[in-house]
Amino acid sequence: MNARSIHRPCPVCGSATAEPHWQKGDLRLVRCGECGMIYANPIPADMASGAFYDAAGKDYYLSPAKLESDYAEVRFERELRLFRKHCPRGFVLDVGCSSGAFLFQLKKGWPGDYEILGTDVSGPPLDYAESRGVPVMRGDFLQMGVEKTSAATSPEAPPSVPLPVRRGAGDQGPEAGFDAITFWAVAEHLAEPKRFLEQAHALLKSGGLCFVLVPNFRSLAVRLLGARYRYVYEQHLNYFTAQTLTALVTPKFELLETRFTHFNPVVIWQDWRDNGREVSNAERGALLKRTTAYKQKGWMKPAKWAYRATENALAAFGLADNVVVVLKKRSLPPTERGSF
Ligand SMILES: [Zn+2]
Repeated sequence: MNARSIHRPCPVCGSATAEPHWQKGDLRLVRCGECGMIYANPIPADMASGAFYDAAGKDYYLSPAKLESDYAEVRFERELRLFRKHCPRGFVLDVGCSSGAFLFQLKKGWPGDYEILGTDVSGPPLDYAESRGVPVMRGDFLQMGVEKTSAATSPEAPPSVPLPVRRGAGDQGPEAGFDAITFWAVAEHLAEPKRFLEQAHALLKSGGLCFVLVPNFRSLAVRLLGARYRYVYEQHLNYFTAQTLTALVTPKFELLETRFTHFNPVVIWQDWRDNGREVSNAERGALLKRTTAYKQKGWMKPAKWAYRATENALAAFGLADNVVVVLKKRSLPPTERGSF
């Protein structure tokens, strides 16, 4: 374990009662006695603060292999399809946007439909996002303030980051806030995911949508490999299932859809073969690039069909690599509307 580590309660229900679950190197996973959530405890201080990602930013997130695979059209095709289905237009914030590829594809695919904004704790990928024309907001997402409330901060409170508010036509003026906020593979990295969901809730318009995708702890990969799976590692602090993810989000949001997506047989094969040895960031990048290239090759059509069929079957049984929930901020009754 790093020099400084932080103990935390269950990130879903707040209970402090937990049993040891798995140990892998310095990583200790525990199982919540109340809600069954699997989470890392204690965690390194630099993971809790996000400082790790700013330091790692250039190394991994901006490696040519990672960028190339992020910006390949197939990378976010599932997320884009799901997103379009629920949110055909509006002002979209991507939290943990990294190099900005999701927003870039969204804007490129449907140029007139969206206004976009990305934010991330890691600075170097945001520089890259900007170079590709993706507007970004730097600073702490948790301090990002809706215009109406930003004036009310006390001198001791950290300064709030001003939120760009879209101005549109209408007699009353538009409601401040976003139409949609996305967390693609972000919540598993957060020491306090609940605070991020609450902040997303505060920044959404009433009726606004929130998309949360995380690795699925009930996936075939986890069942076959257990702790040998490469995504059981220090950067992942939370190990959600559809049940625990739903428990995290439903106090604040209405659940519109739960879906299971993605399947990477190459990862399963490699981790099985290598018996869970540590996989370097360079290797992760190289594999991403290779599987992305496979998906783009024309001669792979029959294999692609078989792959899709397998992915769909796993998804139907809740065994695919990721679980994603689509959430809707409950509309407020008119009397409460002014209080936000
Ligand atoms: Zn719990």
